[in-house]
Amino acid sequence: MADTLPAAKAEKIFAVKGMNDILPADSSRWEWFEQHVRELMDAYAYRNIRTPIVEHTQLFVKGTGETTDIVEKEMYSFEDRLNGEQLTLRPENTPGVVRAAIEHNLTYDGGKRLFYMGPMFRHERPQRGRYRQFYQLGAEALGFAGPELDVELILMVWQLFQRLGLRDIRIELNSLGLPPERLAHKAALVTYFEQHADALDADSQRRLRTNPLRILDTKNPAMQTLVQGAPQLLSFLQEASLAHFETVTSLLTGCGVPWRVNPRLVRGLDYYSHTVFEFITDELGAQGTLCGGGRYDGLFEMLGAKPTAAVGWGMGIERVLELLQVQGVVVPRPTPDAFAVIPDAKALPVVMRTLLTLRNFGVNVQMHAGLAEGFGSMKSQFKRADASGARFALVFGADELAQNMVTVKSLRDGSGAQTLQPLSDVLQWAPTLQSRA
Ligand code: ATP
Ligand code: MG
Repeated sequence: MADTLPAAKAEKIFAVKGMNDILPADSSRWEWFEQHVRELMDAYAYRNIRTPIVEHTQLFVKGTGETTDIVEKEMYSFEDRLNGEQLTLRPENTPGVVRAAIEHNLTYDGGKRLFYMGPMFRHERPQRGRYRQFYQLGAEALGFAGPELDVELILMVWQLFQRLGLRDIRIELNSLGLPPERLAHKAALVTYFEQHADALDADSQRRLRTNPLRILDTKNPAMQTLVQGAPQLLSFLQEASLAHFETVTSLLTGCGVPWRVNPRLVRGLDYYSHTVFEFITDELGAQGTLCGGGRYDGLFEMLGAKPTAAVGWGMGIERVLELLQVQGVVVPRPTPDAFAVIPDAKALPVVMRTLLTLRNFGVNVQMHAGLAEGFGSMKSQFKRADASGARFALVFGADELAQNMVTVKSLRDGSGAQTLQPLSDVLQWAPTLQSRA
């Protein structure tokens, strides 16, 4: 306005680094994925659990592990200004789910199959497939000790990827056995790496003291030969652990699911046991792990509850969606059934009342908006109708309204066919508008 002084130009505020907006052009892909997830979870009778995004820091220190990258350097932690509590934005959701299960005694009457979906937070260097706020889908089976649950959980991921139309994803498996077996392996590992101490990088030197198993996880190319030659956990497994692993692999094979053993696949924490697995693609560069999981029979005890067997996985949703794009999987975008063309404002009362009725019958309608800007020519409105992807245009012209009618014009079949329909009997023609017939 002419009579106000120009204000100092306000600074734009941008999103936090590594935290992404998901705009409508992408969110339809997310919703499509989520729809598949819900159907999958129903198919396996897994039920949804939603836990808070903020938990006590101590939950992750214990439940994720003091010597993990996550706890050592990736957590968003802060002190509650009001009461001084140490809190953390969840970097993963297994500890939260187990905490909730303990707090509400969820497994009192037997095992529970649960899934979650939501944002996680890790202070990592943002890059392709690695963000500071990212989304995980996860499933946890609590209170089941049998290897068939390990298999069920792997099958779920396999089937989800198949239903999404993804290809060339491999499953890598390993067994971490039981704590005494791991202890024997750890001793052998420490001896081995101490013998080759000069070849260890700084990170591995430190891990040799804190968590030697994690050295096997190193991404340093210079250490690959050394790591290849290290003692393998599998050769330390006793009969019971071998039997558990054998059941997992043979059931998978029986279901026609391909797998391979990766002896270097580790989760270096004491509460893990038996099966660990990853789903990996080579088509996303360095961030190729889509999903990781395993059995964590010791975690309940670690969090102060009575021993309870448990197994689960976590999946990075961004990576899965990116792979869909890389592999050219076509994801349907949502479109309205009909687009309401409105030549002028006088029609609005009838239009809005009619659309209300149509929507009640399950017809999805996008209304042209023009009261403030002017309704524009029929031609420009039809352009918008086309762009919306609607299969029909509903034309509320003056001639139509004078007869208490609306013109229904086909936009997609090339015929341009149109019919006059009575506004007094919407139910009679509404079903023909639905593309989901
Ligand atoms: P990575 O080795 O890639 O760092 P991770 O071992 O830290 O993975 P998990 O804690 O097992 O990963 O989490 C399960 C899945 O979540 C990963 O396989 C990956 O798909 C996804 N994920 C982990 N961190 C991120 C991140 N910062 N951004 C996006 N996705 C992630
Ligand atoms: Mg990581």
